[in-house]
Amino acid sequence: MTAEVSAGKIGCYVGQPLVRLYQELEALLGLSFYWNDFSVDVLLVDGVDLTTVSGSPLAVVCGPVSGENPRLHRVEFPALGQEAKSLLLFGQPPGQASSPRLDELLHELRQVFRRELQVWLELPPVPWGYTYCMALTHDIDILSLKELPLGRTFLGYLYRSTLVNWRRLRSGKVTIREFLAGLWQANKACAAKLGLGQDCWQKALNQLLELERSLQVRSSLYFMPEPGKPGKGIDIPRAPANRASHYEPEQYQEMLQALEQEGWEVGVHGIDAWHNAEDAAQELKQISQRTGRSDLGVRMHWLYFKSPDSFEALDKGGFLYDSTFGFNETVGFRAGTLQPYRPLNCEHLWELPLHIQDGALLAEEHLNLNREQAYSLVQPILASARRFGGMVSLLWHNQSFTAPRFWGDVYVRLIQQAQKEGAWIAIPRDILGWFYLRRQSRLSLHQEGRLWKIHWQGVRGDGLPPGRIRLYCPTERILAVTGDFELGEGYIDMPVQEMLQIEFEGDG
Ligand SMILES: [Zn+2]
Repeated sequence: MTAEVSAGKIGCYVGQPLVRLYQELEALLGLSFYWNDFSVDVLLVDGVDLTTVSGSPLAVVCGPVSGENPRLHRVEFPALGQEAKSLLLFGQPPGQASSPRLDELLHELRQVFRRELQVWLELPPVPWGYTYCMALTHDIDILSLKELPLGRTFLGYLYRSTLVNWRRLRSGKVTIREFLAGLWQANKACAAKLGLGQDCWQKALNQLLELERSLQVRSSLYFMPEPGKPGKGIDIPRAPANRASHYEPEQYQEMLQALEQEGWEVGVHGIDAWHNAEDAAQELKQISQRTGRSDLGVRMHWLYFKSPDSFEALDKGGFLYDSTFGFNETVGFRAGTLQPYRPLNCEHLWELPLHIQDGALLAEEHLNLNREQAYSLVQPILASARRFGGMVSLLWHNQSFTAPRFWGDVYVRLIQQAQKEGAWIAIPRDILGWFYLRRQSRLSLHQEGRLWKIHWQGVRGDGLPPGRIRLYCPTERILAVTGDFELGEGYIDMPVQEMLQIEFEGDG
């Protein structure tokens, strides 16, 4: 006999304009809702007339509804719809950056399901064999000191190597050895400017790649599409002149291809792509023709962005993902989540939220922390990843690894910590591939006497870790499980496979 076990059914019944939002929440939760089906155990409702609901599910009211329906047992969850929409489309202000608000809301909603349902299935945002994901990224604003114009930018570097670093030495932000190295490198940069030898920023990218090789990790590197172009301004017609880059991607074509071959990911550090689809398509093309790949991600230089319009521009311009949605002035959760997601006004684009940036933590004009403080300040972000899963993203600039800043060791410590904690450290393209396949997976549960069978329909990604299936159930009655598993409080996790079998004590 094969019968559907009493696996809890979660339904969704929302007004038409809210359908896309709730599809996104369904994907973030790793669930398959029963849409507009009232024969469910729990029904999420938002923007509908409750008198149109037949049956008597538990109604979780996630936004404004009309009508009274005495058959419905109601649970109020009024913030979800509006808050989730606002977080995903507009983000939260820097003052609230420390809160992974969306992940917390979804976690609270899951607690409602747990109170109401004995047995149900989900796909947590955590690859099997790992605890969370981490994406390492670099914005390549500059490839040498030599290329800088003598005016403000080069002199600015000399100023930072001398007077600024003197202050940093006195406040314990660099060691005496680093301070002296900064002075020495400033001399060498002047020589390089006159055509003698190499400057330290010229070597920075290779040092960074060597470092990642030794840590056995790979990252994505975003290159500027065109030199000498500050681009459009955010609220002014033109961005300041020092927003322009000074290297020509064409000259680095071989390096870009070699990076891709060795497992790194090359993307676009956008200038005007945030502004409209034509500029986005043009900037994508400028890097894409150097690497031969079209599935590129983008992060805007100086994090220029207008939400939600920029999502749409980058989507229509053909990018695979954007990774701009973060802060310059602080670290944390602009979209309130650790999960990559699909912005609500896009067809294909993913947003890979930016969480931790070197400059925000360590630069004088932002949080201005020392390295120990910076490492401590981001600990709650990693703790949220251990709790909610998803992905932590890091942005470290290539020139941060050398004089005069010496911010590299915070980066190394974070990677080593993530490795110790069992994180999957991968390039964004692979992480998105995993999250995409998670969204394509479907689960069902059948009972044959004492045997419960979970059927999984989906695709396994080449070179990607398996997905994770979570069955909420009375774990104290489990007698045997086929294959690998991990027991949690009130649930059991297993790696995806076509069929999983669990034997329970007693029937049903
Ligand atoms: Zn930049």
